[in-house]
Order: sequence, then structure tokens, then C-alpha cells
Amino acid sequence: MKYTHLHDEKLEKICETYQGLVRANVPLAPFTTFKVGGPAKLFAELASQADLIQIYDLVSTYQVPILVIGNGSNLLVSDTGFRGLVLHLTGSFAEAKVLSETTIEFGSAMSLPVAARKSAQLSLTGLEWAVGVPGTVGGAVVMNAGGHGSQVSNTLSAIDVVSLNPLCKNFGNVVAQDVTELALSYRSSNLESSDLVLAARFKLEPGDSTKSLETIREIVAWRRANQPGGQNCGSVFTNPQGAGNEFSESPSAGELIERAGLKGARVGRAQISSKHANFIQADPGCLAGDVLALIGEVQDAVKERFSIWLEPEVKMAGFEDPKDY
Ligand SMILES: Cc1cc2nc3c(=O)[nH]c(=O)nc-3n(C[C@H](O)[C@H](O)[C@H](O)COP(=O)(O)OP(=O)(O)OC[C@H]3O[C@@H](n4cnc5c(N)ncnc54)[C@H](O)[C@@H]3O)c2cc1C
Repeated sequence: MKYTHLHDEKLEKICETYQGLVRANVPLAPFTTFKVGGPAKLFAELASQADLIQIYDLVSTYQVPILVIGNGSNLLVSDTGFRGLVLHLTGSFAEAKVLSETTIEFGSAMSLPVAARKSAQLSLTGLEWAVGVPGTVGGAVVMNAGGHGSQVSNTLSAIDVVSLNPLCKNFGNVVAQDVTELALSYRSSNLESSDLVLAARFKLEPGDSTKSLETIREIVAWRRANQPGGQNCGSVFTNPQGAGNEFSESPSAGELIERAGLKGARVGRAQISSKHANFIQADPGCLAGDVLALIGEVQDAVKERFSIWLEPEVKMAGFEDPKDY
């Protein structure tokens, strides 16, 4: 696709047309847990269906790359930022609805830990694991997030999604998709960067709220003891196939990085956590370039030592070839 060149005059025109909704040159670092990276050329915070309708108009008028940001907890934005339209859902997109005794719908901007606690309080079981994943429901669906022996695909039943690609036949139509249509597998789905997940329905089991809340407390305590705080994106790399679960003897990505002697390794202000080797900490003043260079060093070192190429779990934005714009 040939994208619209977003020079200053064009940005001004777009912001004027969609006044109150779209802003130009908005720093993205505060919208990510790494807290690094440059600005979005265009940025819109969507709180309602009315806002969404304006976005359909914008993207059918101007060809712009889309980046949806949930809680930015699995996202590395380049230092030059994102030369397109960044969408961030809030307001009515963060609501919860109980649809039946065991089915609950979360707006995609709902925090995953809040979704876990709400489900537990309703005496529904199956989402306790999600208390440890600091993303949104939308980001969790796209990533098929998981932990503590479970993942989104175990209880997700369907989502509402809309395509923001004007060339797609479903452009601007909110479509309900069954979980089986999403090709959810280990930390992946078939959702595209122009797909906007609006809501997700989970089919849970009747449970015991006291028990679920106790499990939640244990998970939170485990996370505090075993994972670093600060500016990071959780696991940077996916585990090599078959590794990283309690039944596997293959080393996880973290174990490989540790065995390669990389704990504490640093590029600029990015450092492999000394608490968990699959975490990269971004110290104050860190650049996305430092994180990216450290990712590359880890990949090279693990490849040389174990002949295994670690694939990033973290999503990258804004690193594309400038020729595309
Ligand atoms: C301390 C820490 C611990 C973590 N632990 C875990 C863990 O145990 N298990 C795990 O799986 N992950 C973990 N993560 C990673 C991260 O929290 C998950 O991947 C989470 O699901 C990302 O959600 P998000 O809302 O932050 O998505 P973002 O980081 O904002 O985005 C991730 C991807 O989803 C897309 N996206 C986000 N929202 C939408 C939407 N509404 N519609 C369409 N696309 C969307 C983005 O474009 C991007 O491609 C951890 C991260 C941190 C910082």
C-alpha cells in the first residue's frame, strides 16, 4: 500500500478535520511499559463508537499505517516514533458485561489484572492467571497471552473486531469472530495490525470466589518474588518450541540467555535483568535503539553457543523501511 506522506501541513489539516479526537506528534513512551521510543505522527484516544466512526472516515480518506496500543506492555516503539495513526481505546471500551451465568464480556481496553479480579469476585474461575499480565484484554487476545499453565485461548469464546484497512471487505464493520477463527497459538493470533479488537467474551467455569482470590494472591506474590519491576516488557523472547513449561526439559529462552552468560549484559541504558534473564530493563534515558541492539546481541550469542535463534515476543513498531512512507 502507498501511504499518505504525513508532512506538517497534512498533519495540521487532519487534526483540524478531526478536532478534539486526533492529535499530532504525541510522545508514545508514556504509553508503553518500556517507556522508550518517539512520537506518533497521529494519535487518537477512542472512548466511544462515535469516535470510531470518525476514524473510519480518516482512514478511508488518508492511507495511513495503523498501530493499536493497549497497555504497551509488549511493545518497543522506535526512537523515530510511528509514522502513522496510533489508536488507544478507553472509556466505554473498558467495560465489563455479564452475559450469562458463566459468560463475561470485557471491552478490549479493560486491564487484564482487573478482568482476572472481577471474574474471581463473580465466583467464576479460569482467568486467575491473567492477574500477572499487565496488558489489556485486547492486547492479550492478539498475543494469546498466558501464564501459570493457562492462556487466553483456554477460555476465550469470541471477539468483536473491526478492520481499519479500507481495502478489506469488512472495513468499518464490527464482526463477531469465534475463537476458532483466530488461529490462537503460543503468543500469536492471525489478527492483523489494522484489526481493532473491541471486545472479548470469555466462557468461564462456576468457581469459589475465596479460592480464586487466594490463587490471585499467590500469583501476585510469585510475580513479585520472581520478576523484576521497573521499565520492561516482560519476556522479550518466546521460548523455543517445546521449552519453558513445567513438563519440558528443554531450556526456556531465559535459561539459554543465562547459560550464555548474558545476565546483567548491557547496551547503553538497556540491561538484561539480573533477576530474570528473559527481561530487558530500560534504565532512565534508555533508547529503543539500546534495547534493539541488546536483543540482537542476545540472539547472536545464543545462536553461537546453542545454535538456537531466539524469536522476539515483543512487538516492534516504527522500525520499518522509510521507503514505505
Ligand atoms: C512485567 C510484565 C510481565 C508480563 N508477563 C506476561 C506473561 O506472563 N504472559 C504473557 O503472555 N505476556 C506477559 N507480558 C507481556 C504483555 O503484558 C502481554 O503480551 C499483553 O497481552 C500485552 O497487552 P497490551 O495491552 O499491553 O498490548 P500492547 O503491548 O499494547 O500490544 C501488543 C500487541 O497487541 C496489539 N493490540 C493491543 N490492543 C489491541 C486491540 N484492542 N486491538 C488490536 N490489536 C491490539 C498491538 O498492536 C500489538 O501488536 C508481560 C509484560 C510485562 C511488562
